[in-house]
Amino acid sequence: NDIITHYRRPATHGTTGRIPVGIGRKRMRVVVTGGSGFVGSHLVDKLLARGDEVIVIDNFFTGRKENVAHHFNNPRFELIRHDVVEPILLEVDQIYHLACPASPVHYKYNPTNVMGTLNMLGLAKRIGARFLLTSTSEVYGDPLEHPQKETYWGHVNPIGVRSCYDEGKRTAETLTMDYHRGDGVEVRIARIFNTYGPRMCLDDGRVVSNFVSQAIRKQPMTVYGDGKQTRSFQYVSDLVDGLMALMEGEHIGPFNLGNPGEFTMLELAQVVKETIDSSATIEFRENTADDPQKRKPDISKAKELLNWEPKVPLHEGLPKMASDFRNRILNEDEGKGN
Ligand code: NAD
Ligand code: UDP
Ligand code: UDP
Repeated sequence: NDIITHYRRPATHGTTGRIPVGIGRKRMRVVVTGGSGFVGSHLVDKLLARGDEVIVIDNFFTGRKENVAHHFNNPRFELIRHDVVEPILLEVDQIYHLACPASPVHYKYNPTNVMGTLNMLGLAKRIGARFLLTSTSEVYGDPLEHPQKETYWGHVNPIGVRSCYDEGKRTAETLTMDYHRGDGVEVRIARIFNTYGPRMCLDDGRVVSNFVSQAIRKQPMTVYGDGKQTRSFQYVSDLVDGLMALMEGEHIGPFNLGNPGEFTMLELAQVVKETIDSSATIEFRENTADDPQKRKPDISKAKELLNWEPKVPLHEGLPKMASDFRNRILNEDEGKGN
């Protein structure tokens, strides 16, 4: 990669290179990889609302143009179709690196976590940008510590069906810290716990999107295993607030970003039933291999150092997601001529 090393220039962070906006804050030039996906598109909304310039890099693997189409007329917004596995040259102040096939159905055999993260770190190094990695609670594997603190090293099967994702993100964290220690790149690491909300893929296999679309379509909600495994569900706006607090703050992390409210899958099905359709039923299915039995974040570190905590409980977040899903499922059905 000799071709691009000579473009390297000193860091602009905290010094020059930003366009002034109003009093006290400079307008940032921000890249969001995976910015047309579920979490990314909500982040883009908030960054643009704050007055930043935003470049989205996405290959539309699981993301959709519709998620950011409302910004197409905004001169501060740019959308690039690009696979982060390939190098790219840009000049920005901050990089939010979200690109990743995020659901079990999609993430197998994909080099994005390693090659994509390496390229974005190489970019951050060359231009002196601050880099934020969206890692995951999956780095804790099937945890032997409960709830999980950032100090826990995890319990991950390196050759299992989920390991491409778990180990991919663990490698991404390693690369991030190596670029920080070795090259002085300013980095931030978020470990995101299960998040839900509007614009989630309808059929990506995750539990909240499955239950909500099944209930709307009057199909039984598919509970895997005995349904007694637990997860903690965070509403997307809380996550976006946490990611921005992390990027703007002085601490590298890793930080757990999640809602500590813990539910079994049977309890989740019950909340979906109460929210969407009181006649909804459930159906048991065989569970997937290596499914973590329980998961709940300890968020004391983020509370203390980022002054952040989630605000939206499940019974408030689910109806917002449900109305978005209802509209999309309706449009889908109309598209089929039903
Ligand atoms: P998503 O699938 O909606 O978004 C991922 C985006 O990345 C999509 O727009 C996809 O098209 C894009 N993408 C994938 N591979 C790419 C590539 N090679 N080049 C360019 N773009 C690519 O998923 P999400 O839920 O919005 O997840 C965003 C990030 O948050 C991911 O890194 C994910 O691992 C992390 N995360 C999410 C959750 C959650 O519950 N949603 C939990 C833990 C971690
Ligand atoms: N990279 C990139 N954009 C840049 C700078 C680097 O995509 O602006 C890629 C580069 O192609 C390489 C990776 O980031 O694959 C790591 O770059 P780095 O300079 O750290 O590594 P090197 O090129 O020295 O191996
Ligand atoms: N799950 C379920 N029914 C579904 C999809 C998932 O019971 O239709 C279960 C799954 O076995 C797991 C939990 O819900 O125990 C969360 O799964 P998801 O894929 O949403 O997230 P992750 O396993 O990554 O936490």
